[in-house]
Amino acid sequence: CGIVGVLGQHEVAPILVEALKRLEYRGYDSAGIATLNDGHLDRRRAVGKLINLSDLLVHDSLPGKSGIGHTRWATHGAPNVTNAHPHRAGPVAVVHNGIIENFREIRAQLAEKGLHFQTETDTETVALLVQSLIEEGKSPRDAAQEAVRQLDGAYALCFLFEGEDDLLIAARQGSPLAIGYGDGEMFVGSDAIALAPMTDRITYLEEGDFAVITRTSVEILDREDRPANREIRTVNIESSQVD
Ligand code: GLU
Repeated sequence: CGIVGVLGQHEVAPILVEALKRLEYRGYDSAGIATLNDGHLDRRRAVGKLINLSDLLVHDSLPGKSGIGHTRWATHGAPNVTNAHPHRAGPVAVVHNGIIENFREIRAQLAEKGLHFQTETDTETVALLVQSLIEEGKSPRDAAQEAVRQLDGAYALCFLFEGEDDLLIAARQGSPLAIGYGDGEMFVGSDAIALAPMTDRITYLEEGDFAVITRTSVEILDREDRPANREIRTVNIESSQVD
């Protein structure tokens, strides 16, 4: 029910957990993060409160300066660790808010190609679709773009890729998503509140937007794949919401 993504200059796990904490008000049943450590993708997930994820990270740390995080409000598949986000398929990890309406059709096509599913979620379908497109020879960016264009339903998505320490892909359709601009750092969040400790310079993605994010650049395409100029606003969190 909440998404964060960070391309940072510091250890990212505590930053992701702190940002997820600021999204707790939306409600959730499980949480997880994925990071890149020397290009290697890894993840930790836990059911229940964020403190369970924090406890896990104390004993089993997740180093790295690039990462994504999620608080889940289960819609497809029980709230357990297997179904918790980030979902991973080969070189891609994804966090998702919302519902992919046509996931059964996509799932059936991928199953025909011999891909195996480990969860009951709609979200895992997106990860496997991107993986299959990468295996066909597409770049992470092109694979994500083609996959997102096949999705029906409501989604905010953020992707992280093995070996791509300076890349996040974000997309929105029907669920809110914001990009936060830092100094040599870039952030993604469900709202500006999540990103408030890191930055107050925010771009809200619009319906159908697809964003390619590095530490120093943001490229946004609209639903027709045309370059889109989205305003960067300075958001004053104190005057808007939360305590
Ligand atoms: N539909 C997805 C799931 O059930 C995402 C739910 C959410 O928005 O947290 O895993």
